[in-house]
Amino acid sequence: MTTAAPTIPAHAPAATTAVVPVLSHWIDGAERLSISDRTAAVYNPATGAVSAQVALADQKEIAAAIASAEAGYRVWSRYSMAKRQGVMFAFRELLNARKGELAQIITAEHGKVLSDAMGEILRGQEVVELATGFPHLIKGAFSENVSTGIDVYSLKQPLGVVGIISPFNFPVMVPMWFFPIAIAAGNAVILKPSEKDPSAALWIARLLQEAGLPDGVFTVLQGDKQAVDGLLDSPAVKSISFVGSTPIAQYIYETATKNGKRVQALGGAKNHMLVLPDADLDIVADQAVNAGYGAAGERCMAISVVLAVEPVADELIAKITERIARLQVGDGAGIDGVEPDMGPLITHVHRDKVSSYVDIAEADGAKIVVDGRGFQVDGLEDGFFFGPTLIDEMPTTSRAYTEEIFGPVLSVVRVGSYDEGLDLINSGQFGNGTAIFTNDGRAARRFQNEVEVGMIGINVPIPVPVAYHSFGGWKASLFGDAKAYGVHGFDFFTREKAITSRWLDPATHGGINLGFPQN
Ligand code: NAD
Repeated sequence: MTTAAPTIPAHAPAATTAVVPVLSHWIDGAERLSISDRTAAVYNPATGAVSAQVALADQKEIAAAIASAEAGYRVWSRYSMAKRQGVMFAFRELLNARKGELAQIITAEHGKVLSDAMGEILRGQEVVELATGFPHLIKGAFSENVSTGIDVYSLKQPLGVVGIISPFNFPVMVPMWFFPIAIAAGNAVILKPSEKDPSAALWIARLLQEAGLPDGVFTVLQGDKQAVDGLLDSPAVKSISFVGSTPIAQYIYETATKNGKRVQALGGAKNHMLVLPDADLDIVADQAVNAGYGAAGERCMAISVVLAVEPVADELIAKITERIARLQVGDGAGIDGVEPDMGPLITHVHRDKVSSYVDIAEADGAKIVVDGRGFQVDGLEDGFFFGPTLIDEMPTTSRAYTEEIFGPVLSVVRVGSYDEGLDLINSGQFGNGTAIFTNDGRAARRFQNEVEVGMIGINVPIPVPVAYHSFGGWKASLFGDAKAYGVHGFDFFTREKAITSRWLDPATHGGINLGFPQN
């Protein structure tokens, strides 16, 4: 990243192409100079400066990316499993050795603190490690002598060229939910990263090449809706793995399925933490602060609503307020090796949107206990910062409650009972993650059974499953029936063939018989 970028006012960013690099596509094993005349500004959110322009693919570039991936697939799908496994192991070793570089790239474009950037890499690396063991997970089955002299067996084969479209908030982990498994299973991947933080994908492409991946097997197509639609419309692209906001996830699901593709489309969230009166409120306050304000609330598994079963609300709010006062907000890269707790939001536009939700809550009668609107960091006045915000008595009819805010805004809703809290969670449009805090095992067990959410934490606020389980929500948080990674991932990126076989043998082949084959 250049450091010569001009500082621009936070409220009216005037993107300039004068002094910043243009980030482009990775096609055929190299970063290609873009021929598209469309670009978007990439910011350092901590300073508000434009650090680069990213190319937005046009039709020719989309076609070139797809053609290269098709050629890559023809080569890669014929590699032996042992050779593919060798590449995956080499990639894992390189990633593990050089992840510090990648963390800095994430922080420079996303804004999250460096340790959190490292955390997302490590969670992505888990999936790379899972993928190194892929031969075991794409084994077929064999049934001997299902009828006299007849065997049945199955093969799991790659799909071909597969598309991955990722959001800004995890520029490394979310692509890694998919591409290690897709590649290990023999597919060629086209990744369309978020145009807000496009550099990490290019770094990964170089590392995969260094690990021995043939050209064309991993392509980075930079762009916006036009690039996405190009993938959705191409018959050469056999599947789409999407992660992003719910309206776009729904659009992707509907368009891609209409075009005959296999689709997994993960959407937005509004995750609730249900606090029962028997819970230890110091632990709950710590966890609510971690899960509400970590990564400035820009996590799909962030807790955004605390459902406090009375009489605990007053005490819990006091404890959370006291902890917020101790949070340090600043440049995620830190100063002299000391990093803050929380960085900025991704753009000034998003910061203003988060702020508008706090306005809505206030207008709807909520009580703003800690107000992050207008928050500034000394020396970084043009950065896209928003202070940790705590809202009490949030009306459940307010758009600030029903919609995803995706910022450091924690709302408290006071409820009279476990059942009232459960009903609120189950009546929401989203079903990504949720958590219950209690020492009552019976209540926790009831919750895991009754709550209509895909991922549940019992005294764990951000229950992101490990790589050998699968990640995905319910309702408007996941369109399609295949979750990310784990066994779901291997099933998604392979298709099965069943073969019924016999060796010709006059004694058993049965002569002429026009009936349907029976055993
Ligand atoms: P987004 O929906 O704006 O963008 C996601 C991707 O879609 C990007 O690559 C973007 O370029 C592309 N895109 C945007 N508009 C498009 C359009 N009209 N047509 C086609 N493609 C389009 O999401 P975001 O702001 O980058 O990410 C934040 C969202 O992602 C939040 O809603 C968050 O909850 C969600 N998210 C969900 C999960 C999950 O696992 N469920 C994980 C991470 C993020």
